[in-house]
Amino acid sequence: MQGVVIHKDGPLVRDLPEPTMTEGQVRVRIHMSAITGLDLDVVHQRMPFSGIPGSTFVGTVDQGMGPAAKAMVGRRVVGRGSFGCGDCEACHSGADYRCVDRRRPGVSAVSGAHAQFIFVPHHAVVPLPDGISDESSVLLPLLATAYSAVIRAELPDWTNILIIGDGGMGLLAALAYSAAGYTVTVRGKHGNRFDLLRRHNIHFNLVTDEPEVRGARPGRFGPALVHYPYVIEATGSASGWDAALALVSPGGTVFLLSSCADRVPRPLAAVQDKNVRVVGLREGPIEAALAIVGNGWFDPADVITNTYALEDAPKAYKKALHIDEWIPVLRMP
Ligand SMILES: [Zn+2]
Repeated sequence: MQGVVIHKDGPLVRDLPEPTMTEGQVRVRIHMSAITGLDLDVVHQRMPFSGIPGSTFVGTVDQGMGPAAKAMVGRRVVGRGSFGCGDCEACHSGADYRCVDRRRPGVSAVSGAHAQFIFVPHHAVVPLPDGISDESSVLLPLLATAYSAVIRAELPDWTNILIIGDGGMGLLAALAYSAAGYTVTVRGKHGNRFDLLRRHNIHFNLVTDEPEVRGARPGRFGPALVHYPYVIEATGSASGWDAALALVSPGGTVFLLSSCADRVPRPLAAVQDKNVRVVGLREGPIEAALAIVGNGWFDPADVITNTYALEDAPKAYKKALHIDEWIPVLRMP
């Protein structure tokens, strides 16, 4: 099968041997896989992973080993962003989110989806209804992560939410919270997000390259508050963290959507000084994300900018770093 390998001179597309299937596994023929910020961390070796990258996928199960896996053959599925080991007490009790040995395709322990096929346990994929396209489904794990703040922090029915960062993940979070009825402001640097955000009644505060904390200018549209009770840090940069702590209300909550893979230390003094609660968001319930998209609240495909063939993956990774790209996807042969 064709797939991406990480190489010191940059990622390459190669013919790779297919792994031997084990009991309970499905083989998914991949239709589409996104290039997320997390995938770029892996490809650029900011995270220690040497297998096939690719953390999101939509595809069709074409083989299964064992009764539960075989029963899924022919189903179109989306991958969970992570899944439990299946062997420990937490996994056996149905609480696999508590598993201390979670696996993340394309990030840790399991080869990912920037390839023609992926091999994962049957509980690592979720069947999709017919009405939702591949484009609308491939970002569901990211949407689930962004939206998990509602569950983790017991957000009130209405509040102001500030999202710092206008990359793909920040935009997806903004669309999800706006669709859920929250008043959302995105703080970003890229004017080409205006049309999408305005269509969804999301405020936008454009900042310049001045130091982030002082750069909170009045928005190009929508008000800029002095402080926000809930702030989502989605920049992946230390300056984004500084801005989050400067702009969160005393006693407020900062959600960390960034992987912090740059290994730049983030200061914590303001966390204590302002009595701030920090909540890390790495994964969320994909069923909840599926319900949001199924209800037609908004289409995650709006955040996909370009589609590339698998053979063009090295070019796609390079382009993904450009500001005009939000989230590109790879389409498999
Ligand atoms: Zn486990």
